[in-house]
Order: sequence, then C-alpha cells, then structure tokens
Amino acid sequence: MPTKAFAAQSATSPLGPFTIERREPLPGDVEIDILFCGVCHSDLHFARNEWGMTAYPVVPGHEILGRVTRVGEDVKRFKPGDLAAIGCLVDSCRTCASCRQGLEQFCLQGPVFSYNGPDKHSGGMTFGGYSEKIVADEAFTLKVPGNLDPARAAPLLCAGITTYSPLRKWGAGRGKKVGVVGLGGLGHMGVKFAHAFGAHTVLFTTSESKVADGRKLGADEVVISKDADQMARHAGSFDMILDTVSADHDLNAYLGLLKLDGSLVMVGAPPSPQGVSVFSLLMPRRNLSGSLIGGIPETQEMLDFCGQHDVVCDIELIRMDQINEAYERMLRSDVKYRFVIDMASLKA
Ligand code: NAP
Ligand code: ZN
Ligand code: ZN
Repeated sequence: MPTKAFAAQSATSPLGPFTIERREPLPGDVEIDILFCGVCHSDLHFARNEWGMTAYPVVPGHEILGRVTRVGEDVKRFKPGDLAAIGCLVDSCRTCASCRQGLEQFCLQGPVFSYNGPDKHSGGMTFGGYSEKIVADEAFTLKVPGNLDPARAAPLLCAGITTYSPLRKWGAGRGKKVGVVGLGGLGHMGVKFAHAFGAHTVLFTTSESKVADGRKLGADEVVISKDADQMARHAGSFDMILDTVSADHDLNAYLGLLKLDGSLVMVGAPPSPQGVSVFSLLMPRRNLSGSLIGGIPETQEMLDFCGQHDVVCDIELIRMDQINEAYERMLRSDVKYRFVIDMASLKA
C-alpha cells in the first residue's frame, strides 16, 4: 500500500514528504493508523548519519501510537478500533537465548528495528513512525492502557522503556540515591520513574532554566552540573546514575559521585568515544554499564505500570512539517520535554 511519510534522503538534506510501501497485513499482522509519533534524539542521530550506519532514504520514528484498522486472521489480542503501539522493535529471530528471555533488543541474530533495519518481508529497510500507518507482527505490538492520553503516552515507547528498564535492573527504589543526567526526552522520564519507584532522585542538568521543572517532575534535588561546588557536595554518594546525554561530556565527573559498587549506566549515545579515567573506576570499586531500550514483555510491563500510576510524558505537539525545526530545538536542549508529531497533519 502506498503510504505517506517523511524521510531524510541524505545526511545533509532536511526531512520532507516521501511515499513508502507498506505490506498488506499477513495473517499475524496488525495494521495501525498512526495518531502520534514521538521524536527521539536517536531519530536525529539517524537522519544525519551521526552513528555512521544510516541507509537512505530513512523514515525515522519509533514512538508510535495509533488505532488498529485491520488485523490478519491469526491475530488474537487486537481488533479494529483498539489503541496499539509500536516501539523500537518490529521483529527478531524469536528463538535465540536473548529472545527466549524476552530480551529481543539483544537478539543474537540481530533485532529488526522499526526503522533502518533489514525488513524480512520487503527485502529492503524498515520505515518508522513518521508515516500515516504501519503494519507489524502482533508479537511486537503493544497494548496501551485506555486511561492514558494517547499523545502523551507515545514517547513511553522509547523514552519510557529506555529509562524504566535500567532503573528496574539496577534496583532504583526506596533507600537508594539515584541520579539522572540531562533533562530531555529520556531524562524527564528517568526522573519520573526514579521518583515513582521511591528513590531519592537527583537531576543533573546543564540548563539553569530547568531547575524548577526538574523538581516538579519529581527530583528531590537538582544539581547544575557545570557548578563544581554543587557537584563536589555529592561525591561518593550515589548508588546509580543514569546518563541520558546525547553529546560529548565528562563521564569521570559522574563516576566520582558513585559510592562503592555504584553504577553509572549509559543510555545516552554520543557518537564519539567518551574518555574514562580508569582511576575513576578503581577507587572505590565502581561500575560503568549501558542499557538499550527494553524487550517486549518489559515494554508492556512499563505501559501497564504507567496506566496504573498515571505516568505520561510532558510533550510539545508539532505538525509533521515542523520536524526540521524541532530537530534544531532539540540540539539546543530546548524541548519540554518531548516533541510529538500529530500525524493528522501528515494525512491532511
Ligand atoms: P534530548 O531530548 O535531546 O535530551 C538530551 C539532554 O542531554 C538535553 O536535554 C540536555 O539536558 C543534555 N545535553 C545535551 N547536550 C549536552 C552536552 N553537550 N553536555 C551535557 N548535557 C547535554 O535527547 P533524548 O531523546 O532524551 O536522547 C538522549 C540520548 O539517548 C541520545 O543520544 C539518544 O540517541 C539516546 N537514546 C538511547 C537509547 C537507548 O536505548 N540506549 C534510547 C533512546 C535514545 P540538560 O539541558 O538538562 O543539560
Ligand atoms: Zn528512541
Ligand atoms: Zn533472537
């Protein structure tokens, strides 16, 4: 089916209208009319080939939420009219050790990402959520709790799960001191979840203008990371710090804030290597780790948690044709705190 979309044709061209082909739903497929798609900083990294792995044309977007329009005959959990969501993954081998544990993002055969991944059906690349509809296997389609505002729920599909998963794995909760670095799309959800899990939550930001918002979002303390005195007051005190920063920054400054056996967990993905002084790890014994989105079962768990606790994202709704301007604002850390595309603007 010819489907309207927005694509980047090269690393230097702005995104613009483009028509893609979506498959007719197969027996196991769900067809979704996309209502909203969040704008992740990874979309920008991809559109501009900052990680050196983009195949053009690329249609970004992996925070996809919409309404089911058709289902294949084998589909059990969805029917037309249901709300449904697709995150960063649309397929995996489903049989390897990672897939069997529900960690499809670490599929040993390589997960199929929602965009710029090898599409098993078309033989080309997958196209993401900056489009009017998507067709995906039921096994990678998520249920959206009906009480959540759909536009504000869309970014849960990446910003939500990418922060929920490591905070759960590293035990953020009561009695723990947890830092979140950067108040952008991921960071603001990190603050909300760490607070909801009961951790003493500290936001690190470079933007003085975000201090009040940080507190409103759930931070018990806000530290301006450029202020050495403020940083020094927290030396050796954190159980975990979740780093969501998208650009070059000094990891040693955060490693120094961890207590014995504390962990700095990277989810932000700056394109260049980030220098680490080994001494920051040795004394006292500290961990440097990373985390990638989350598997399908945990993504559903996160959505259900958000439904039960009324957790949604703080968003700015934009039209599809405002995407290039939104990227520029994201680069200036000027977004409160996630852009979401109203996909009606593409269909009009
Ligand atoms: P975003 O909304 O642009 O937020 C990034 C934040 O980092 C900014 O708001 C800013 O916060 C801070 N920041 C930016 N430049 C900085 C600099 N030079 N020094 C220090 N702080 C800086 O981006 P996002 O969508 O949250 O994504 C963040 C990163 O995570 C991106 O690299 C993205 O690709 C990656 N990501 C990874 C995964 C994963 O699975 N691991 C999933 C999604 C995204 P302040 O203004 O508060 O300082
Ligand atoms: Zn993302
Ligand atoms: Zn697998």
